Amino acid sequence: MGLLSHGAPLSWDEAKLQADHVRKNGIEQFLSVYRKLKDRQNDFLKWGDEVEYFFVKLNDKEKAAKLSLNSTKYLEILNSEEEDPFTKEAIDSLWRPEYASYMIESTPGTPYGHDISNFLEVEESMMKRRRKIKAFLEDNEYLVTLTNFPRLGCRYCSDPPCEPYGPIAKSIFIPDEFINLHPRFETLTKSIRERRGSKVNISVPIFHDKFVVRPFREPLVSPDGVAERVAKPDTIYMDAMCFGMGCSCLQMTFQACSLSTARYLYDQLAVMSPIMLALSAGSPIYRGFLADVDCRWNVIAQSVDDRTEEELGQIPLANNKFVINKSRYDSIDCFISPGPFFKHAYNDLRLVKDDLVYNRLVTEGVDDLLAQHVAHLFIRDPLVVYKESLHQDNEAQSEHFENIQSTNWQTVRFKPPPPGSSIGWRVEFRPMEVQMSDFENAAYVVFVVLLTRVFLSFNLNLYLPISLIDENIQNAQKRDAVNSGLFHFRTILTAGSCGKETELMTLDKIINGEGDFLGLVPLIFIFLDSITIDLHTRFRILQYLSLISKRAKGELLTTAAYLRKFVTEHPDYKHDSVVSERINYDLVKMAVSVGEGEIIPELVGDCYKKNMCFKESREQNL
Ligand code: GLU
Ligand code: MG
Repeated sequence: MGLLSHGAPLSWDEAKLQADHVRKNGIEQFLSVYRKLKDRQNDFLKWGDEVEYFFVKLNDKEKAAKLSLNSTKYLEILNSEEEDPFTKEAIDSLWRPEYASYMIESTPGTPYGHDISNFLEVEESMMKRRRKIKAFLEDNEYLVTLTNFPRLGCRYCSDPPCEPYGPIAKSIFIPDEFINLHPRFETLTKSIRERRGSKVNISVPIFHDKFVVRPFREPLVSPDGVAERVAKPDTIYMDAMCFGMGCSCLQMTFQACSLSTARYLYDQLAVMSPIMLALSAGSPIYRGFLADVDCRWNVIAQSVDDRTEEELGQIPLANNKFVINKSRYDSIDCFISPGPFFKHAYNDLRLVKDDLVYNRLVTEGVDDLLAQHVAHLFIRDPLVVYKESLHQDNEAQSEHFENIQSTNWQTVRFKPPPPGSSIGWRVEFRPMEVQMSDFENAAYVVFVVLLTRVFLSFNLNLYLPISLIDENIQNAQKRDAVNSGLFHFRTILTAGSCGKETELMTLDKIINGEGDFLGLVPLIFIFLDSITIDLHTRFRILQYLSLISKRAKGELLTTAAYLRKFVTEHPDYKHDSVVSERINYDLVKMAVSVGEGEIIPELVGDCYKKNMCFKESREQNL
């Protein structure tokens, strides 16, 4: 989750005094990179995935599944290989801490390239990564790729059990031990709480099964009296950053061949974000209750919402402050590519930006769209400031820029090259929820990479007004959005405007096509037919596309729909939306088996066919 500097972070009261210093130098650092690299061309198209995992312990005697807070221990082992000069060259996976001490994040050791056979490596790499971790685990300890741990925040949901209400999160549900030991994470937690002047206040609608009384109100009792005051009826109340940033996702990063291509891809992928959020939906349970949403998005957005009352427009503004429409974690606010299909009318949100930053960038020759994007990111304060990093060489370092950038968690992220490296202009795609198996995760990753190829090869135009993308993001999270949701989408993807530009479509239509509208999977097929591709690779790609296509059609369940079904059909379930300890145990155990290769027909159907060519490696995983 971004920048991991070393040193001792400043307290919020000290850090806020450095905010202008960080912004001022951060912008010079951006300008330095921009001046040097804006015209660089012909970087290779490279890409990679990031998978986030949870460590869990299964107590088969007591039939309980608990979070295991062992991430630091395993990271030390895994990272030492990366640092060892004898092994570092051959390293095939990289491991990073994530927000929670029960989480870890992995990427392939080196990025994939433009070679189509790289598509075969994705699933293999994911399986290898799982195997690698598995080798270290304690007895009864397992790795799962679930977006949310269903009973996160229920009493004693970790092994060993810990007490909540520590000094960092002050949560009545989440023990401070759940926060990763790297100082970045506890500082983020505290700074967000102190900046906004209260604990974060997260609510998601509860699923009203037949025995949930209306209005649903939990009898919450808290030492600080906050829960009783702020918890809203008919919602599941949560009060800590961990409820959001303690969720796992599946992300991807693309290196484009030039700055202008990166900007084009950023815009197109921003439009795809809600679509992929709905298709990958995997988190229908929060704090032991079934929710009426299928995705984590709004939960994380609320979990890191550090806006003050002024910024929320609740009290009059003081100098140099802004009323800000969204959390730091949310969908993007403006497009950045000045390409032929872009129209200013698409940037239809009132964009809040730091005028000093904007003017500085424009004076230095940065165009309006890019300048306003960066000036918008820079309305935020840096949350984690290290004393040791305050003074930097702005021509050679970019930590101040990255500080602001890495705490703007949006659906897509535009990433300038790090100074002095061979890395090019990149775009990160961030909305997707993680799936339980490597097969599914590989399918989503390969689908999105193929989409980027199709966008670039056919020069597609997916632009929608940003306000419609925002509507899509909200609709994407609703229960069963994949079947019952409607999404704004362009009716013609291959040209500029002509007549009515957009309409509300089902996910099935967007992905599989209908009538005159071709659909994204058929477009990928046209692309695949236009390139040389060996049978082996083609076969595997077809499996992946078939999964995506069938999920969009509703022939296969999304992870969220399957988990919901798993709960509601469980013998222990009482139609009260409660996910008991026993249901949680069976669900997590199932997720462990799926991660290790068990096939669930409702999730993957016959897409996951055994094939001699890769049977071996898939089976090794079992
Ligand atoms: N885990 C976060 C999510 O589910 C993302 C953290 C990151 O930026 O790596 O979106
Ligand atoms: Mg991450």
